Amino acid sequence: MKEQTLSIVKPDAVADGKFGSILQAIEDSGLRVVAARMLQLTRKQAEGFYEVHQERPFFGSLVEFMTSGPVIVSVLEGENAIPTYRKLMGATNPDEADEGTLRKRFAKDIEKNAVHGSDSAENAAIEIAYFFRAIDLVDRGI
Ligand code: ADP
Ligand code: MG
Repeated sequence: MKEQTLSIVKPDAVADGKFGSILQAIEDSGLRVVAARMLQLTRKQAEGFYEVHQERPFFGSLVEFMTSGPVIVSVLEGENAIPTYRKLMGATNPDEADEGTLRKRFAKDIEKNAVHGSDSAENAAIEIAYFFRAIDLVDRGI
């Protein structure tokens, strides 16, 4: 099934100069970037994006981290894009991530873990609409 998912290259990976390597790995996996933008999240934007985690003990620190520098937000499209990208990302904690995954390669720790990817079709739709309008998405011919 052709799907779209939202990806974020987080501030740690952008600061390390790794966004190019990450977008390359995404395209090498067969997924296609159909929209992309660099921005620095405001506190309000980060809090809104991670609203589901607002009761978690790490919420304040996560918002601090996500606003600490620029990110690259992008929309990825392809066959089963949501689980395909989650697999490419690897486990939330890089110590538990499989070899070759983005988090194994680029994450610093469980918080500064290089990338975000939507976890369901419902959340992908919400997260894509958080950053992009329909007119921002291009046709890559897949
Ligand atoms: P994922 O990004 O793999 O879907 P979650 O949705 O559980 O993981 O968490 C959202 C983000 O919150 C993680 O990517 C990570 O940056 C941060 N996070 C998750 N768990 C922790 C934790 N125990 N301590 C600090 N930060 C965490
Ligand atoms: Mg999540």
